[in-house]
Amino acid sequence: MPSLNSIIGLEGIELENAVETTGIEVQARAAFCPACVHCGNFRCRIKSSFVRKLKHSRLGTRLVVVHIRSHKYLCLRCRRFFNLRIPGILPRKRSTENFRMEVYEKHHGGISQSLLSKTHEISHATVERWYQDFIKKRVNELRSRHCPKILGIDEHFFTRKKGYATTFCDLKNHKVFDVRLGRSEASLNPYLERLSERYRTKAVVMDLSETYRSIAKKHFPNAMIVADRFHVIRLVNFSFLKAWAMVDPVGRKNRGLLSLMRRHKKNLESEQIERLNQYLKRNPVLQEIYEFKQQLNEILLTVEKNKALLRPKIYTLMEMIQKLQQTSLEPLRTLGTTLERWKEEIGRMMRFSKTNSITEGFHTKMEMLSRRAFGFRNFNNYRMRVLAHCGWDGVFTRT
Ligand SMILES: [Zn+2]
Repeated sequence: MPSLNSIIGLEGIELENAVETTGIEVQARAAFCPACVHCGNFRCRIKSSFVRKLKHSRLGTRLVVVHIRSHKYLCLRCRRFFNLRIPGILPRKRSTENFRMEVYEKHHGGISQSLLSKTHEISHATVERWYQDFIKKRVNELRSRHCPKILGIDEHFFTRKKGYATTFCDLKNHKVFDVRLGRSEASLNPYLERLSERYRTKAVVMDLSETYRSIAKKHFPNAMIVADRFHVIRLVNFSFLKAWAMVDPVGRKNRGLLSLMRRHKKNLESEQIERLNQYLKRNPVLQEIYEFKQQLNEILLTVEKNKALLRPKIYTLMEMIQKLQQTSLEPLRTLGTTLERWKEEIGRMMRFSKTNSITEGFHTKMEMLSRRAFGFRNFNNYRMRVLAHCGWDGVFTRT
């Protein structure tokens, strides 16, 4: 059976007595001779004694409080005073590091400040302060990381007052690399210039935004720019819906038809396809547009690493883009122009399996974080929270 000492797990402490009251009160004393904290000398004299009362843990439903008899020492070499330093307990703190870690982990896992303040007998503000302490420590450690090999860039909304923020995502390890306020080149430049080992980045995945493209070209010299499949498909669907509204404004307002039109054909059931066909038969122009969109999406959704196998598809895609640019419908013409401008990036996308869906997933998580905090005003606090929840697994290894 393990001794009480090893259960308590404080090094250099000898337990003397444990009394059960509403909690568990443990009497202990320091069982080692300290070296002077100033000069490292072992020849010291006890100057005075005192008791440190420290919250240590929660055993079941009871709080374990350790009373450690400790001393103030006089160093006989440098003649300076110092208080005993115990491993696992920071100077001037009224709880052990074990206890602070416990509160941090519980709060990180979603237990509210008010509940923790009752179970752990500390104030709300203390929970928040300790939580911030651990997060800051970790974010500082993360600062020295290198640039990820596959980087996803995307924007998301922060607040009405401060506008948009940009997410940098490590797509290989499924982690948020960083979030920064702003989405323009001017606001991101200072940050990007400071990043270490930018040449390591091999690919940057982004939506069809000119700003991000020029940022990536400038700051990631060795990276290929890859279009993001999700955004490309979304753009195609959006343009076709607009074209549909021009061809048949009444049909476009029908909710049932909208749901049928915007889905990929493979996701429709036979009865739904029947219904859609009935509508399209009445409108041959629309039928043509619809079939065109289905074919375009099918090509854009291909993932094919083999160049030779991909080539015919690329040729078809180029032809389709040309056709789009020659149509009379304005939304489709615009789509054609955009795809033409991004054709290289889209070509790379077809050979690349990573997409920004990971980043979009993190955006959902960030919205949740923001909701749980009833919104953030301070961007830095927001960034800390995001990195704490999406930047690493949230676990500190206890040393
Ligand atoms: Zn000394």
